[in-house]
Amino acid sequence: MHTDYQKHIIDILGRNSDIKFIILGGIHGNEINGIEAIEKILPVLKKKFDPNKGQIYFLKGNLPALEKKERFIHHDLNRLWLDKYIGNNTSEIVELKSLNDLQQLIIRDICKGKYDNCIFLDLHTFSAKSGVFAIPACNAKSLVFAHSFGVPFIDKLSGKLPGTALSYWGKKGMTSMVFEGGTHQTPEATENLMAAIWHSLAYFNLVDGQLPEVIQGRNRLKGISENLPHHLELAYRHQLSDNQKFEMKPGYYNFKPIKKNEALANQDLEIIKSPETGFMLMPLYQKKGSDGFFIVKEKK
Ligand SMILES: [Zn+2]
Repeated sequence: MHTDYQKHIIDILGRNSDIKFIILGGIHGNEINGIEAIEKILPVLKKKFDPNKGQIYFLKGNLPALEKKERFIHHDLNRLWLDKYIGNNTSEIVELKSLNDLQQLIIRDICKGKYDNCIFLDLHTFSAKSGVFAIPACNAKSLVFAHSFGVPFIDKLSGKLPGTALSYWGKKGMTSMVFEGGTHQTPEATENLMAAIWHSLAYFNLVDGQLPEVIQGRNRLKGISENLPHHLELAYRHQLSDNQKFEMKPGYYNFKPIKKNEALANQDLEIIKSPETGFMLMPLYQKKGSDGFFIVKEKK
């Protein structure tokens, strides 16, 4: 294995290559809860995991940005999974190194060109207060997996976000999922991401579904999601260009009900009103980010 690829590996468990489960933390460098969740799970998992069940790869994403605890240095690593950047090491964008090392690590050393038995779980947090949800890739098995968490999941969003690792691996035929665990750098987010990992390991039969960690994790996710819509669809994406001055109005959080024409944000000298009635998703309360907010609707 190329030594630069190894820098992305936190740990590898198991020897049965029938199933390969890839868990990635820190594709956004300020989202350290994903790495924390992995580090907290590993010592427990090592005692309870039967290596004959499959292989589990724990990886970390944007290495230079993680060092600085920033979302990215030059470019969002989770918007670069596109043909024009894969295999391109000539640009000044520092993230291309992590992109190409991760892509090669997964293709050559983990999946070895075969994707139907590979699963990709991408751990995230966000700047808004509260709300935990999943975003599946646009394929049927990812949708079924998203359903299984018991938290709200957003259908048809991955196709609207070009260049995500989620859609890149989904298109290759993997079961591919983003799990958004809560607010950046809060202890709750780490707990929620741990719950998502334990649930996933049991869902793919890598650990026993009766383990206390799995049962507690599933109860935790269920508890957080009570009274929230379960299956949602993207209705609107408020995309930002590089030099726009965007300021979300205070008080928005994930799944807050929104009325059509409600004033949601200030942008340059304009007031941004909601084009739809629905629920708020990922309102931007941090400086870096390419989307101001999303509006989602419950799928009937
Ligand atoms: Zn993120």
